Amino acid sequence: MTYANVITRLKEAAGPNGWSEDAGEIAPHLVEWRSKYQGHSTLLLKPQTTAQVSAILAICNQTGNAIVPQGGNTGLVGGQIPLNGEILLSLGRMNKIRNVDAEGASIIVEAGVVLANVQHAADEAGKYFPLSLAAEGSATIGGNLSTNAGGVNVLRYGPARDLVLGLEVVLADGRVLDLLRTLRKDNTGYDLKQLFIGAEGTLGVITAAALKLFPKPKSRVTAFAAVPSPEAAIALLNRMQDETGGQVSAFELIPRVGLEFVLKHIPQTSDPLAAPSPWYVLMEATSAALPLNDIAESVIAHAMDTGLVADAVFAASEAQAASLWRVRESLSEAQKHEGASIKHDVSVPVRAIPELLKNGIAAVEKIVPGARPVPFGHIGDGNIHFNFSVPAGGDNDVFLTKWNEVSRAVHNIVHSLGGSISAEHGLGVMKRDEIVRYKSPAEIELMRTLKRTLDPNNILNPGKGVAI
Ligand code: FAD
Repeated sequence: MTYANVITRLKEAAGPNGWSEDAGEIAPHLVEWRSKYQGHSTLLLKPQTTAQVSAILAICNQTGNAIVPQGGNTGLVGGQIPLNGEILLSLGRMNKIRNVDAEGASIIVEAGVVLANVQHAADEAGKYFPLSLAAEGSATIGGNLSTNAGGVNVLRYGPARDLVLGLEVVLADGRVLDLLRTLRKDNTGYDLKQLFIGAEGTLGVITAAALKLFPKPKSRVTAFAAVPSPEAAIALLNRMQDETGGQVSAFELIPRVGLEFVLKHIPQTSDPLAAPSPWYVLMEATSAALPLNDIAESVIAHAMDTGLVADAVFAASEAQAASLWRVRESLSEAQKHEGASIKHDVSVPVRAIPELLKNGIAAVEKIVPGARPVPFGHIGDGNIHFNFSVPAGGDNDVFLTKWNEVSRAVHNIVHSLGGSISAEHGLGVMKRDEIVRYKSPAEIELMRTLKRTLDPNNILNPGKGVAI
């Protein structure tokens, strides 16, 4: 069959409005948020049903044509970009909420539903869906599950993986694997759905998911506190967890330099506290029943007496809470305005974070004297976005030539502390080769065996993740 025939069959399989060859329409799908990876593709498929996805994959598998699944295109490691002219499969039109079961505390959604819409549907049903990240207005459930996304509420609710009850997946050969159950207990052999969560579109295409819903928080306390060190932040976290009975949902570390970048570049932001501090934490505790304000205030008062906290502010309204969160959520955007940055998404055991920061900053200073460390993020679950900005007045391109050397130094330290070189963003193409250095040969080989078994013709997002 000629390539032209294959394309004709694929267009038919995707339905009349289900494809595009218009370069203008395809272009935004080819570049990602950081403009780090530029792809190319001449065919965008936009199926609307599971049956269409199934027909598309069957054709790709028979004809050996590679295909790259894409959701909201907010991934940060290049996994969703067709780097070698592959066919692009956008799940964006599979955006129906199939069922909301408030009594059963579950929701069934198609893969292309935007995360914020899932949160909204849960809210309308009087429930809560806790997955939350700065890209939630564009990122889709299919992408969230395929990257096992984390975000700000992992501390309390776990990453995306922990929020899944069931999945519907189309396998490489087009077979539909219906695992779309809402059971809380099901010990009938291997838990196959887990294979596809965090697989970055390399083992199958997720077309729908059954997700857990939770009681809506009725009491929410949001505070921004100045702490002298990461050690103090961790001590404060533990105290807050003990006193609230583990109700802390978010606990985010922000360095002074990060706050300064935000104040300088992001409109309508202001320093929440009067005096500068080397570090801050933004924390949130929520409860469906307990009023938490008094407890949180007494923990902070005690922490101020013992020197763990220098100063703190509590949000008195939702608007104030939103403006504190705006500081945290603007960090990546603000860093862009400061020139080039070299970024890492790493995790270590929480107690090892101070050592990671100290050793990592020292190692990078040796490689690029003057590089400005901007480590921030989910300190509560050991996940730091260990970023470095170009030295003040430095040359962006020269700085970026150091990316591999800087990353190797950071990753070696992470590994020596028992950590992971990708905490929540996945491997994509960015860490595809790097991961092989840090996993045991047995782990890598088992992953490759799975890939070869589920996708023997290597048509699903080839060259991404633990590639074969
Ligand atoms: P895409 O970017 O389209 O795809 C990501 C990967 O999933 C690709 O490998 C793709 O091939 C695969 N894929 C997509 N859909 C499917 C499907 N249906 N079936 C199979 N494979 C599929 N991530 C976090 O974890 N925590 C954060 O706090 C966070 N903050 C962010 C903030 C910003 C400003 C931005 C831009 C990104 C952030 N991210 C964060 C990264 C990103 O939002 C997540 O990785 C998100 O889960 C990706 O969803 P998406 O729909 O955009 O997926």
